[in-house]
Amino acid sequence: MALLDWTAGATQDAGRMPGPDWTLFLRTPVFEVYALLVGLIVGSFANVCIHRLPADFEPSPGRLGFLRDLWRQLASVVHPPSHCPRCRTPIRWFDNVPIVSWIVLRARCRACGLPIPARYPAVEALHGLLWLALAVLHGPRPRTIVEMAFVTALLVLLVIDLEHQLLPDAITLPGTLGALAASFLPGSPVVPLESFLAAAGGYLVFAFVAWLWRTLRKIDALGEGDWKMAALLGAFFGWERLLLVLLVASTAGAVVGIGAIVARRGDWQSRLPFGTFLGLAAMLVLFGGELLLGAYRGLFRG
Ligand SMILES: [Zn+2]
Repeated sequence: MALLDWTAGATQDAGRMPGPDWTLFLRTPVFEVYALLVGLIVGSFANVCIHRLPADFEPSPGRLGFLRDLWRQLASVVHPPSHCPRCRTPIRWFDNVPIVSWIVLRARCRACGLPIPARYPAVEALHGLLWLALAVLHGPRPRTIVEMAFVTALLVLLVIDLEHQLLPDAITLPGTLGALAASFLPGSPVVPLESFLAAAGGYLVFAFVAWLWRTLRKIDALGEGDWKMAALLGAFFGWERLLLVLLVASTAGAVVGIGAIVARRGDWQSRLPFGTFLGLAAMLVLFGGELLLGAYRGLFRG
């Protein structure tokens, strides 16, 4: 309620000219409208990340090679400017308006007619709606902005893992640092110490499970991308919600995995895109956290 508090002071300056009524910002759906519109534009940027981050993934040699790769991945997102993958024609701003341009262009490149997959407007719409939902449910607070950035990272990670079975450092590493930094903000539900411990804990638990599976069953069940995503989830959620995300994701993963075996579309050796399950579970916990957490605490109290 901090935003409301500094408007309360206005009534004390009775002799002065009435200033602008700042509460108007709270009473009209300005924040929600901005969240949707900016969410659509950032959703368009999420498409660029989904398309470009997996492309440049030949790891550099050496112990610090990952830093070079991280820089290369981050640079690939901003340069070169958006262009058609076939005819290389740069996409002008009016052909790059989220959803609208896809409809106006009838899902084709203006220059060469290459079809634009429906995934592009779908990701934009979904991303815009996720930001709108956060704005409506959690209101205009600093934490809501952090949650929006988190949801963007989750969406990019879960789509890339589904398509390419990898989770780029360019999202997980800056994401973890961002979530740790956000734990210092006022209104954060997770204090910095817990954020650090849950990030380290998530990473180490995943690394341990991966080692266990490699030793016992000779299977690479969890890649290092999954360990880093667990660190991001821990840093953002703290330990209790991290455990809840892991519980939901592994239950869903087991159901889908066993379903695939029953349908003979996979076997016990096939690798599930666990990052996709983690991403979906994290969104579920972000939106329905209190409700789920109540049920989850009930499980352990009996
Ligand atoms: Zn083209």
